[in-house]
Formats: sequence, C-alpha cells, structure tokens
Amino acid sequence: MPDKMKAVVKIKPELGAVLQDYNIPQPKDDEVLIKIKATSICGTDVHIYRWDSWSDNRIGAKALPQVMGHETAGEIVELGKAVKGLKIGDYVSLETHIPDPADLQTKLGQMHIGEHMQIVGVDRDGTFAEYIAAPASVCWTNDKSIPPEIACVQEPLGNATYAVLGEDNDIAGKSMVIIGDGPIALFAVGVARACGVTKIIIDGQSDFNLEIAKKMGADYILRNTDDNHNQRVEFVKDHTNGFGADIVLDMAGAPSGLDEGFQMLRKGGRFSAFGVLSGADYKIDYNNYLVFKGAQVHGINGRKMYDTWYRVGNLLSSGRLDIRPVITHTMMLEDFAEAFDKLMALPRRASKIVLFIDKGEFEKAKTRIK
Ligand SMILES: [Zn+2]
Repeated sequence: MPDKMKAVVKIKPELGAVLQDYNIPQPKDDEVLIKIKATSICGTDVHIYRWDSWSDNRIGAKALPQVMGHETAGEIVELGKAVKGLKIGDYVSLETHIPDPADLQTKLGQMHIGEHMQIVGVDRDGTFAEYIAAPASVCWTNDKSIPPEIACVQEPLGNATYAVLGEDNDIAGKSMVIIGDGPIALFAVGVARACGVTKIIIDGQSDFNLEIAKKMGADYILRNTDDNHNQRVEFVKDHTNGFGADIVLDMAGAPSGLDEGFQMLRKGGRFSAFGVLSGADYKIDYNNYLVFKGAQVHGINGRKMYDTWYRVGNLLSSGRLDIRPVITHTMMLEDFAEAFDKLMALPRRASKIVLFIDKGEFEKAKTRIK
C-alpha cells in the first residue's frame, strides 16, 4: 500500500480547492479503510467550495487543510483491530453523521441529531479522495446490485426519504406538495411516488430541474415566479377538494416558499422542514400556520439511523425507485473544479454530479446512466 493518495483538499478559506497528494489515513481500532469507488457532490460541498459565512463559522480556517466530500460508496480494504461484523471486500456506503455514544439522543434512538455528532467532510476529512478512514459503526453494507454511482447518493436520498415518510410513514393515498427543486426535492418526488403518495405537486423555479421532476413522477409542476404566489396556493386547494395538501415538504428554505407551504397545508396536515434559511429574517404567522391549523411540524436533519438506510437500500435494489434522472453528470475526480462550476452556474444545467476515482469504473457508469 502506498502512503499517498490523490484528494481534493480545501487548503485556504476562500473560493476553490486543490487536487493534491495527501497522506492515506490510518484506520483507528474501531475504524475501517475504504477505497472509494464513487463520491457525489452535495449542496454542503458547494458551500464549503465557495467558503461562505456558514463554512467560516462551522468549519473555520483553523481546520484546514481538510479533504472535502461526504457522499460515498466503496470497498473496505483494511480493518481496525476492534472491528467486528465487517470484512475486507465489503461494499459499503457511509452514514455521514457520526454519533457520539455518550449523547442522550444516541441513547434514545435519535442518534442522527446527537449534540456531539461529527460530520464527514465538515468536522473531519472527507470522501473526495482515493481512500477514507471511517468508524465501522457508520458503514452501511450495500446490496451488490446497486452500482456505485447510485449507492453513493443514498445519503441525500435518505434525507429525502426521511422527509417524505416522516416519523409515522403514514403517506399512502395522501397528497404532497414539495417546495424546491434541488436534488433532494427531486429524490423526494421519486420516493413519494414509490411509496404510494397519490398526488405529488412540486413547486420550483428551475425549468431544467422541473423537467427532471416530471421524469421522477410528479403529477403537477408549479413554476414559481414571484408574482403568482396566490395562484399556486389556489392550485393546490383546487386539486385537493379545497382542503390543502396532507403533507408539505419545504426543501428550499426561502421565506416566500415557507409562507406558500404553510398556506398550501390542510388543517391537521404535516409540514416537514428541511430547507435551511440562509440569513433571511423570517417571521412566521404562528397562529394561522401552526396553532389554528393544528399542524404537525417535523424538522429534518439527517436520516433515521438506520431505518432510513434499510428502506432506501430496498427501494433501490427492488428497482421500484430509479433516481438516474437526477444524476445529470458523471465525471472524474480530477475534474472537480468543472463540476463545481456546473453546480454554481445559473440558470441550472446540472443537478446531482457523481465523481469517480478510477477511469474503468467511470466508463462503466457512463453506460449505466445514459
Ligand atoms: Zn450530502
């Protein structure tokens, strides 16, 4: 085993990152070393690439250099001394929230929101590299039928699945509005379709992404322009016998979208909050949106460990959920800068981008995706 690998490293607190030689990590006793086959780019990585105020506060210049990335699929090539239940050659993905066993939430079965959990690629070195060392406890063994370019995307797909299913999985035969059209919103459309939601309405701004939403199974597309707010709310009422949607997922985190979402929600419905407000000052109509509406509000941070992984894996391996329309590009790791440029460009021409380390894997993936 050589001691250096190629990795995309954030070295300075400014726009960009560099591909450089980096030490191959040594797995600790409770960790495994994974040879990465595919790694996908998340919205979080775009924040870090840009180095916005969130990155500066959350990660900070002192933590650099740090390998970027967190969504991955690969093969275990080395086991720490204390690792049980995994073996060399296992094909795994990573849950990127690393729980602290001492946290109250971990003990209560809510480990994905533990006080002291660490996030791969945010609090420690990430996956835009040939190898990563990660705790065995966050390795999820994949079904071999799921190819790497799909298996690596299970992490954000898990966010979408958790948001769609909520805590009670009570969605079959119901109506759902999804606000936003980023990759997780598009995944949510597919999951809702596969799990029996009978009316799926997506409310977004990008024509490119809304075309993908159609392919993922949306029944109605609402093209969000600033001046047709009331029309969109009326549309949802008209298509739900005047009641409003049973479930609304906010996947945009924009003040106008939040207002719209609460107004589209029926009395007694569920509002799942996933989108993060960036710096905007949002005042909620507490009485009408929550109290008088009898709304259930569900914050989504991460995925239920490991109930969501179990369901996501089964949805994919069964063939009932096909997320390929959302994966708009597959590229080599060394072309990461071009990939980030595509993700930051407006109007949108890219949704989910998967990076490959090995040319052979990359060529094989191209035949599967197109
Ligand atoms: Zn992610």
